[in-house]
Amino acid sequence: MTETKFSDLGLKPELLSAVQALGFESPSPIQAKAVPAILEGGDIIGLSETGSGKTAAFTLPALQMIDLQARHPQVLILSPTRELSVQVCEEAHRLGKDLDGLRTVPVYGGTPIDRQIRSLKGGAQLVVGTPGRLLDHMRRRTLNPRNIQLVVLDEADRMLDMGFREEMEELLSAMPESRQTLFFSATMNKHVERLIKKFGKDPIPVSVERKTKTVSTISQCYYEVRNRSKVEVLSRLLDIEPPRLAVIFCNTKRSVDECTESLLARGYTADRLHGDISQQLRDRTMQRFREGKIELLVATDVAARGLDVDDVEAVFNYDLPQDPEDYVHRIGRTGRAGRKGRAISFIYGRDVYRLQSIEKYTRQQIQRMDIPSQEQVEG
Ligand code: ADP
Ligand code: MG
Repeated sequence: MTETKFSDLGLKPELLSAVQALGFESPSPIQAKAVPAILEGGDIIGLSETGSGKTAAFTLPALQMIDLQARHPQVLILSPTRELSVQVCEEAHRLGKDLDGLRTVPVYGGTPIDRQIRSLKGGAQLVVGTPGRLLDHMRRRTLNPRNIQLVVLDEADRMLDMGFREEMEELLSAMPESRQTLFFSATMNKHVERLIKKFGKDPIPVSVERKTKTVSTISQCYYEVRNRSKVEVLSRLLDIEPPRLAVIFCNTKRSVDECTESLLARGYTADRLHGDISQQLRDRTMQRFREGKIELLVATDVAARGLDVDDVEAVFNYDLPQDPEDYVHRIGRTGRAGRKGRAISFIYGRDVYRLQSIEKYTRQQIQRMDIPSQEQVEG
């Protein structure tokens, strides 16, 4: 079997040159399947694991169909979080760098609405945002749905989990009947299925088969650690094999705060991300993490959802997630684009049952490890 090339996908030269400039050598499997299918014009359900390049899979065809002369919104991308909206918009910007006259705008809560209104009035053709803020703009009539040709739901499962169902439905109902709709997700569940049934027009499933739900380049292990010893064990593990960048997941905002404080007290460069932190601060923290000025990012699931930062070498489940799906999403922050990554979980007592359901769900074994002694750290 010969490998598919970007030039086989039916994309215009301006997009092929941008892809090349980004250093993408060949399309990922989901890109190879989804791009031509989307360009055909039908509705699509795109399913593939995290880090498999779903953003470009829908952004490339979206950019291709934009009429650059027309100065009104044509593509609407719904995304679960502010961070993710910015990221998708940045990728659209990079992939659209050779498209003359392209305007993109991220639209999300927590920042002044005026600037977004100006960008929308300025003729943005591709709009990415969280369902709440997009709906806000539509009600204010600063976002005109009339000429929307394509709607993308990125991480539809998570948007529903986050309670955006009503906003998503209202937005979708306001879009022209003739539009194309793309449902993208890493995981499928009955809520997503219901939404697809209601708003999809004979959608074609485009999924990339995988033996396991996690990525094979991620090594997974766990340690049995009591709550009060978690920071000590974490710091030993960080010292024995320092990751270039690591994300540490906690189940609650309080746990995020406590873990961050303890790490700072021990001299690590750490910062945190959770829902109670202002948007401005969260943006700055993400930026510093990307630049490597912070080595350790401590976060809740929602805050870190979908974050695409290269070179995250390790993901720690400081608290084991309740839901196996969250486990898959968390550890998907590492091992991206074929790189190697480590996922390390702390469990105690009854967590072992949850770990078993995670193993069952991912169809992968998670290896038990012994806590390294202080001597091993110094050794
Ligand atoms: P997903 O949404 O499936 O979790 P992303 O779209 O965020 O994944 O992509 C993960 C990373 O892979 C990003 O850094 C992206 O720039 C990179 N990437 C996407 N497509 C390719 C490709 N064809 N070749 C190399 N890297 C790619
Ligand atoms: Mg994504």
